[in-house]
Amino acid sequence: MKKYDVIIIGGGAAGMMAAAGLAQRGRRVAVLDMGTTPGRKVAASGGGRCNITNMNANHTRYFGENVNFVRSALANTKPGDILDWMTTHNLSVTEKAPGQYFCVQGADAVVAALMDDADGVDIKYETVVQDAEFINNQFTIQTNRGNFIADSVIIASGGTSFGVLGVSDVGHKIAKKFGHKIIPLRPALCGMAVQDFDPDLAGVTTEVEIKVGREIIADSLLFTHFGIGGPAVYRASVRDFDDGIMINFCPGKDIAQIMRDAKRTMGKKSVAGVLELYMPRRLARYFAQNDERRIADMPDKDILKIANSVSQFKIDAGNIKLHNLQSAEVVRGGVSTDKISSKTMESQLQPGLFFVGEVLDIAGDLGGFNLHWAWASARVAAKYA
Ligand SMILES: Cc1cc2nc3c(=O)[nH]c(=O)nc-3n(C[C@H](O)[C@H](O)[C@H](O)COP(=O)(O)OP(=O)(O)OC[C@H]3O[C@@H](n4cnc5c(N)ncnc54)[C@H](O)[C@@H]3O)c2cc1C
Repeated sequence: MKKYDVIIIGGGAAGMMAAAGLAQRGRRVAVLDMGTTPGRKVAASGGGRCNITNMNANHTRYFGENVNFVRSALANTKPGDILDWMTTHNLSVTEKAPGQYFCVQGADAVVAALMDDADGVDIKYETVVQDAEFINNQFTIQTNRGNFIADSVIIASGGTSFGVLGVSDVGHKIAKKFGHKIIPLRPALCGMAVQDFDPDLAGVTTEVEIKVGREIIADSLLFTHFGIGGPAVYRASVRDFDDGIMINFCPGKDIAQIMRDAKRTMGKKSVAGVLELYMPRRLARYFAQNDERRIADMPDKDILKIANSVSQFKIDAGNIKLHNLQSAEVVRGGVSTDKISSKTMESQLQPGLFFVGEVLDIAGDLGGFNLHWAWASARVAAKYA
């Protein structure tokens, strides 16, 4: 049986980046992946355009029990380093929102670049890792295609969301076996199933501000058949929303004052008629709740009630169900960073065992932060494994 210096479990974003770094160091490396192609989530990322990194990557854009864990890796691999890496592969970027970079040539080109760097690495496809053990000073990895042995192992098996692309919790199982704590998994960067809105609103998009904890997220919201989605909601979903969320459907405007003024200046209009000057018509009708009165005929207290529901729409945590693991871009939770060195990504419980990417209890914000974490953490492990 061929023995490798390093076996990487998972040929996704982090696994392929780690393989490239190790190949450069002349290590004998195998990547074991359950699928038939590498980097399938990379290929699907950013709707096929791969939101590859974000200039604002710092610990405040990551979520988990100890977000300070990301500091060292992020200091070692800056977003600019990823842009430089792209340049070496003749890939260019476009900046969608400030600091948010997509690959002009598309996500498949990013996968091809990763493959290019991993030249010389043994990539074993359709190889489903089942377990790992450490006996006689080496790791034995058990798979559906027999056992593989190595001095070191990098677990890069990712999160468990978006199962259609082929995912598993093997990384969490192996981590647990070696004594690591697993922080419970939940979907993140996904929509929220809520009952508060009329199903007729499905398809309507509007700019909002969502207050989650002490943060205010300004982005667009999309009404869906199950509740709410879109970037603002995705971003809220990765955060801790134990106190629920509060949505302002008319951000940057004092809608109560606007409606009071409308009584004088456009008194013949209905409430919906006034509101639709500031939001999509269907949403304006929803807030007006079939109230056909002229705004001039409405008492201020009724106006205030509607204005409050527009600008301070509260949804309690108990009424929010995350929708759902199958559609979530990432998971919150994973292998606790507690007993892992942030400087090397190596387990403090089992020398030679490394963890990188989404399998760890680190989830990034929407906007390229998750891939950046995969690249940055993988590059660290590739230096030490
Ligand atoms: C639809 C979608 C769009 C996204 N868009 C973006 C984006 O634009 N920007 C961004 O920053 N992030 C994006 N993300 C998130 C990002 O893709 C992931 O966070 C990132 O790929 C995680 O990298 P990883 O290497 O840890 O895991 P993955 O890339 O998921 O790789 C894990 C690999 O492990 C393999 N594996 C798992 N279990 C086993 C097993 N038992 N045996 C063998 N192999 C196994 C899997 O097959 C997979 O190839 C998106 C995610 C999704 C689902």
